[in-house]
Amino acid sequence: MAYTTINPATGIVGETFENITDAALACRIDELDLCFRTDWRLRPVADRSRIVASAAKIIRDEIQTLAEIISRDMGKLVSHAVGELALSAAILDYYAQTASEFLEPKALPGAPGAKLHAQPLGIILAVEPWNFPFFQLARVAGPQLMVGNVIVAKHASNVPQCALAFEDVLRRAGVPAGAYVNVFASTDQVGTIIDDPRVRGVTLTGSEKAGAVVAERAARNLKKSVLELGGSDPLIVLEDAPFEPTVFNAMVGKMNNAGQSCVATKRMIVVGEERERQFLEAMTNAMGSLKPGDPLDPGTTLAPVSSEGALEGLLAQIEQARNAGAEIVLGGNRIDRPGSYLEPTIITNIGIDNPVYRQEIFGPVLSFYVVPDEESAIKLANDVPFGLGGSVFTADLARGERVALQIESGMSFVNNPTWSTPQMPFGGIKNSGYGRELSQLGFGEFVNWKLVAIS
Ligand code: NDP
Repeated sequence: MAYTTINPATGIVGETFENITDAALACRIDELDLCFRTDWRLRPVADRSRIVASAAKIIRDEIQTLAEIISRDMGKLVSHAVGELALSAAILDYYAQTASEFLEPKALPGAPGAKLHAQPLGIILAVEPWNFPFFQLARVAGPQLMVGNVIVAKHASNVPQCALAFEDVLRRAGVPAGAYVNVFASTDQVGTIIDDPRVRGVTLTGSEKAGAVVAERAARNLKKSVLELGGSDPLIVLEDAPFEPTVFNAMVGKMNNAGQSCVATKRMIVVGEERERQFLEAMTNAMGSLKPGDPLDPGTTLAPVSSEGALEGLLAQIEQARNAGAEIVLGGNRIDRPGSYLEPTIITNIGIDNPVYRQEIFGPVLSFYVVPDEESAIKLANDVPFGLGGSVFTADLARGERVALQIESGMSFVNNPTWSTPQMPFGGIKNSGYGRELSQLGFGEFVNWKLVAIS
């Protein structure tokens, strides 16, 4: 499949890029290997740091232009794209600034003379999705370039302009062609890259299906993989949750990037029937008042979803939910205008046997539940195959922390929807994947923590 921009706001097909040839791919891998062995990993950390920080500066300086590229490729509201780019720049800056501390040899308590030294592994393959097309690349590139690894990036086939723009930013910042390269690779070629003995690890963000294929291939080659897959994050509203901030945060958690985020608020779980109507009405009003339009227009508040295929998939899930007895209390239909727009949708009365009960719904669709007590909320929150993020809203912070600890997830938040900062680790458990990106944990995923013990 070729790499093509199809503007989701208009359906207009933009530029198409052919897949890389096998011969060119082999050359790119040679260049990466040479650069790793003879250049990038040997550079002083301060040198790599200056270059990565310079990439952050370019992103900030050109934020509006880059935001428009994101919007055109995958339909995101330009304001959301600006937020994504600011976070991407912050990630690059943070690892440029903190790498020397992370890379400091570590003494081992009780083992005098023994130290762990962080050594890069080599070429790391990054298979990335379209939903945050800069952030996903930045959260690999920032830490991994600073470790001294080199990266071959295979971006999603619907965001080629973002893939090229990110590579161009790094190149202008001074990252050599052998330290980061974008390849328009086919699925088969992803397998070829993983099989290459010089490639020492693979990180993938995307669907469970893609994750399983890539991880299986990596395992056959005895290589490490890190997987960031789907999620069905719960947002638990306890009886004492303050009303307006909770609704505000639930909207942020649900509607960032038109709900197309692995850590979007997918399920709102309200404790206590007394407040069900109040919260349902508020969410219905807030989601129902969003205005579809051109994502480049700052007045637009509802973006299209990323593609026709994504829209069709969402409509099929809504239909499936309805057929299995759920109620669609808001939206549920395609919006009658050019582009791939879905009405903001709220689904209630989702029974345990309804197929969507355990599915991830990747778009502007909220599954709304009411339960009698805290225990039932936790049980429902955990009754899905996923374990990425989750949140609890309450006036009692100690209770919030206690509930947050019982959510089966890699990340839980009290009084905030799941979110990401450069400093915090990002990743999940269960079918949401394994390993972490960002923080010292993510920084260390593709590192040889080499023991040197002096007697
Ligand atoms: P995919 O998993 O299909 O795509 C993610 C990346 O994996 C893309 O670069 C894609 O390439 C690549 N890929 C897909 N299949 C393979 C394969 N067999 N071997 C190697 N690489 C592969 O995600 P979709 O865009 O199709 O979205 C579907 C679902 O994935 C969503 O509904 C959501 O559940 C989940 N998802 C999760 C994300 C997250 O942030 N965790 C982000 C995006 C999606 P190509 O584009 O060329 O197919």
